[in-house]
Amino acid sequence: DAFLTLDDLTLRYGRTVAVDRLNFGLKAGELVALLGPSGCGKTTTMRAIAGLMKPAGGRIVLDGRDITHVAPNRRGVGLVFQSYALFPHLTVYENVAFGLRLARVPAADLKRRVEAALASVGLAAFAGRQPRELSGGQQQRVALARSIVVEPKLLLLDEPLSNLDARLRLEMRSELSRLQRDLGITMVYVTHDQAEALALADRIIVMRDGLIEQTGTPEEIYERP
Ligand code: ADP
Ligand code: ADP
Repeated sequence: DAFLTLDDLTLRYGRTVAVDRLNFGLKAGELVALLGPSGCGKTTTMRAIAGLMKPAGGRIVLDGRDITHVAPNRRGVGLVFQSYALFPHLTVYENVAFGLRLARVPAADLKRRVEAALASVGLAAFAGRQPRELSGGQQQRVALARSIVVEPKLLLLDEPLSNLDARLRLEMRSELSRLQRDLGITMVYVTHDQAEALALADRIIVMRDGLIEQTGTPEEIYERP
């Protein structure tokens, strides 16, 4: 049974159909890559799952609940984008704590969860730093910690590594694989980089012009011409 189901999802900008009757299902704990060229509808699909855009048709079901019309902050969906947009005047700790403070999580619980999230991305020692004192890769890991600390049911990553240099990209890839393995978070990962999709994903959905062109495991996708 699918943990996330997109059921005939259609997304439009005015008259432009960006995504046309998309159907797919994700199993719990799976990392699925949405792969395809610029303009094929990847970001639009993510925006709809996050609730930042109203579908013109179809349904989104997460963990047995129809979330098609649920407000973004009540979906249990976390987001990491390519520009990580940390609060520059807050410490690493306070950046990660931000969502928990909004949710009025009790102090002792908050401290434990922030420390665990920072440890899980290897930044326990950086809690007191300002974002500008960190490398790009470290800042992206803070953004990751900030997303996982609120314990989302689903994590959406939209080209999260594209602003990083080649070495940091490799480092972050293994970081993401480890997080998925250790925390069992279900993830949708948008990329236009086939190598990245092949390296990271349990399954790949290849999109073209708002449609699914093919789906399969990395092995299956790689073997096809
Ligand atoms: P990406 O390819 O990474 O999705 P783009 O450079 O295409 O990003 O888009 C950047 C911004 O412009 C986004 O906010 C997107 O919603 C918007 N945008 C993209 N295509 C169009 C378009 N045809 N008309 C108006 N806005 C667009
Ligand atoms: P991708 O993320 O795969 O690069 P997008 O989801 O950004 O693709 O775009 C899918 C289609 O929707 C493209 O044709 C793009 O031009 C169009 N589009 C994206 N954002 C907007 C927007 N804000 N207004 C109008 N058209 C848009």
